[in-house]
Amino acid sequence: MASRQGNREPRRILKPDLFMAVAFWMEQSPLAERPSDFIKHSSSPSINSSGAVMVLPNDRALSVDSSHGGVHSAVHAINKFGQERVKGCNVYVSRRPCSSCAKLLVQCEVAKVFYLPIEPELDDEEDAARVDAMFLSSKSGLSIKIPKIDDMIFQDRRESPYRENTASLSEDARQFVSDLLTKYWNEEWINKAQRALRWQAFDGLKDQIKEDIQNFFKWIAHTTVVDVPGGICFEAVKKTQTGVDYHVSRPTESPPKTQHSPIQEGISPSQDNKHTGAPAPDSDQWQLVALHTSRLAQMLSQRSDDPTRGVGCVLMIRSREIVAIGWNGFPAKALYGEFPRASESDEARLKKEPYVIHAEQNALLTRNKRNLKGKWPVLFINEVPCGQCLPLLKQSGVNTFVIPKINANPGASQGQLRLVLEKNFDCFGYKHTRRNREVEKVSKQLEF
Ligand SMILES: [Zn+2]
Ligand SMILES: [Zn+2]
Repeated sequence: MASRQGNREPRRILKPDLFMAVAFWMEQSPLAERPSDFIKHSSSPSINSSGAVMVLPNDRALSVDSSHGGVHSAVHAINKFGQERVKGCNVYVSRRPCSSCAKLLVQCEVAKVFYLPIEPELDDEEDAARVDAMFLSSKSGLSIKIPKIDDMIFQDRRESPYRENTASLSEDARQFVSDLLTKYWNEEWINKAQRALRWQAFDGLKDQIKEDIQNFFKWIAHTTVVDVPGGICFEAVKKTQTGVDYHVSRPTESPPKTQHSPIQEGISPSQDNKHTGAPAPDSDQWQLVALHTSRLAQMLSQRSDDPTRGVGCVLMIRSREIVAIGWNGFPAKALYGEFPRASESDEARLKKEPYVIHAEQNALLTRNKRNLKGKWPVLFINEVPCGQCLPLLKQSGVNTFVIPKINANPGASQGQLRLVLEKNFDCFGYKHTRRNREVEKVSKQLEF
């Protein structure tokens, strides 16, 4: 846990900035595809993949998507929920939308579209002019959004208690940030950003914007690749006589190799357990999606206003579609001082607990599909669900959890984990990592 200054209210990322971070993270999804790769013909322009979050007027995320199947990220929500549902929404897109997205967004009368100042979906001046024309003649707004992550937010961010080898993880984070800067904020792009984005203010703000972009990437690195390290393998957690242990249920035959794109493979039942449709940790793609989505859950936990515990979760159905995101916190729009927010040294848990809405509860309340039965929903979460949430999850048809950091807090979470397994939930976590010390630590914790 980051050091906190006495009873000072911790600073956390602003909600619009978090939505933009989620949109950007969705562009990094292993399922994201360039729309232009879907229909290949010589005249098709090269369109970048993107990520998008559609946010309802009440400030709840309606949809979290990346470009795939030839559909651009911002269009998924429009297509899934229709014009009336997305009317008045704010849309956070990782890149400036192209004209084919823009016309649908204005037709649906979304409130405002925000995008990062990186290369647009389609880097073409004529297309940029068409996008402007469409927004000018509509009630919808279009605006650059540069998240501001200040020092206080860094200082107060919740670090994963799992981390041990800080030096090498910081090195991972530096590398990650450097890769992002090379890809998204390189000299070539900086030199043409003003023209490509028709961005009057850029010249005078160049240095500040560079710093803000760097901080944004740094925050993403620390809340994703550092807190949930790569090189891990998610395995089924099984109950043993003495406690819990991990094991991968190996299939009797390897899944058939198909010519399908990753997303088509993802929804093919052959990739999942043949009898139950359960997620198959032996599938490489499932492992990649699990890692990416677990990191997203970890990122979301940063928005919690609970002073001691940050929980984030993502609810995903079998088609790899995210149907809800959530984090724990006090009732919506609660003001500081309205509810007990005791410091870490007080009996904070007992005082605040009756008022905190859990991440799982928020996700279930705001999910965009009511009926999840038969859709094999999987909950990605950074803490083991509690006894209050388990019956709600069961009733909603959510029987599978992915909890990467099961071992982070062995005393508290393993007892709860046994209860979860006894209630017939399937659970996946990770045991093996590329860092030997951590493997050892995990094995030791499991022998109790
Ligand atoms: Zn587009
Ligand atoms: Zn709970």
